Amino acid sequence: MTDSALEILHNTFGYESFRGFQEEVINTVIQGLDALVLMPTGGGKSLCYQVPALALAGTTVVVSPLIALMEDQISSLKQLGIRAESLNSGTPYPEQQRIEQELLTGHLDLLYVAPERLLTESMQRLLDQVKLALFAIDEAHCVSQWGHDFRPEYLQLCRLKYRYPGIPRIALTATADLRTRKEIAERLELDNARVFVDSFNRSNIFYRISQKKQGKQQLLRFLQKEHPDDSGIVYCLSRKRVEDTARWLNEQGRLALPYHAGMSNEERSRNQQRFLKEDGLIIVATVAFGMGIDKPDVRFVAHLDLPKSIEAYYQETGRAGRDGLPATAWMVYGLQDVVLLRQIQAGSNASPEIQRVEQQKLDAMLSLCEVTSCRRQVLLNYFDEPMDEKCGHCDLCLEPVETWDGTEAARKALSCVYRTGQLFGVSHLVDVLMGKETTKVSQFGHQHTSTYGIGKDYKQTEWRSVYRQLVARGYINVDIEGHGSLKLNERCRPLLKGDERILLRQDRYEHASTKSTKPV
Ligand code: ADP
Ligand code: ZN
Repeated sequence: MTDSALEILHNTFGYESFRGFQEEVINTVIQGLDALVLMPTGGGKSLCYQVPALALAGTTVVVSPLIALMEDQISSLKQLGIRAESLNSGTPYPEQQRIEQELLTGHLDLLYVAPERLLTESMQRLLDQVKLALFAIDEAHCVSQWGHDFRPEYLQLCRLKYRYPGIPRIALTATADLRTRKEIAERLELDNARVFVDSFNRSNIFYRISQKKQGKQQLLRFLQKEHPDDSGIVYCLSRKRVEDTARWLNEQGRLALPYHAGMSNEERSRNQQRFLKEDGLIIVATVAFGMGIDKPDVRFVAHLDLPKSIEAYYQETGRAGRDGLPATAWMVYGLQDVVLLRQIQAGSNASPEIQRVEQQKLDAMLSLCEVTSCRRQVLLNYFDEPMDEKCGHCDLCLEPVETWDGTEAARKALSCVYRTGQLFGVSHLVDVLMGKETTKVSQFGHQHTSTYGIGKDYKQTEWRSVYRQLVARGYINVDIEGHGSLKLNERCRPLLKGDERILLRQDRYEHASTKSTKPV
């Protein structure tokens, strides 16, 4: 060991002091022990292996899933005078030879590699001849088969333990509910690792979730009102929506660039670079965007579509406010999102077990949307970090949602599902309840059912709200094979029989100050 960790922090990185438990993590791996580090995005995970890489003799090998991410890190490390390189599929052969030579002669502090590369026999034979200091496994949640970033190659990383015994390993991630945490430790065989769990509370982020009515218009109002000149990210589910939304925002006078996996590499990386460098630029993206993006002054993250899980939501919103200054996580969602996500899940080839877990994760996400208490409490509770007090810094704390006794309305809504044979989606059901004379109504003779026209006292949006909440709370299932038709679930029996009452939230379509629709 040459310099102490603190000296390295001061002299090489130019920082005053360690944050959170960085120092403990660093000391752990410097002592040769394994570590599993769970820190929110922006918490400072990189230093946890970069400082040991300099403190220990030998080379630290960093496993990272994205080439773009490695390149960014390496260029900033080089600016600090640190000897870091990466080997990936894009490395030209002469360059590769030079890097291998530096590696063999002990001239590299850090080597970044993609997992598939690291696990090749030729790479392993090369590493056999190198003095190794540490293995750092970044974005370790990629090992989780339940997660949205699953990388099969990550599963093989446990082999490092046997091939290079005695070399400490540190796994790092920003995603970690209990299940994922256990899975990382198990799959990477980090049996004796010290586990460090930082608080997942991002206190500078204000959370706001509203009902989707006209998503893009709502987004625009939010941007104009709260972030007229700020940089931010807008997440959409599909490539097409990304394109549409980016174009539309530009038409409305906001500089917005698209980012999705269907674009060429050049265009994607050009847009990403502009986002990193310019002020006031909005990136409209699918979930393909964001892992490892280190832009400290992202002032908002907006979701026009519902994420698949709380982990995804947390990770995506976590890209806001990495500098610690106030930032907003804004989202609109509606029943259509739920139907769409269930359709996507059902259409995947995943095993029934995985599908069940995905369903549970989506349910948890929905309950975050539909809560009537504090959002942060629900969010942190999900990460096993219960919070006693309400946060005072989310939409629901600021303006508590009003509830109404929706028992009668719910019964009507459920009967309508039943009387029409559990074969229809929400739009038609609402038409029947409201006694509309549509072609579909007459085609199926639904003007003759007992529920036809029994819901004239509520507006269409209100009925949609009732259905959405019944789905979100598990009273109704969305049948994917039946193109989003609603089906009654066992759970609604007590409600139908009159043994149970249900409080529904009153929807808000705009944020804060705007009046909500109130059933009378
Ligand atoms: P993560 O990988 O956990 O998302 P990073 O390692 O990218 O976070 O760190 C986030 C930001 O915080 C970076 O700009 C980094 O330079 C800065 N940072 C990390 N640790 C410290 C520290 N001890 N003092 C000051 N800045 C730090
Ligand atoms: Zn709150």
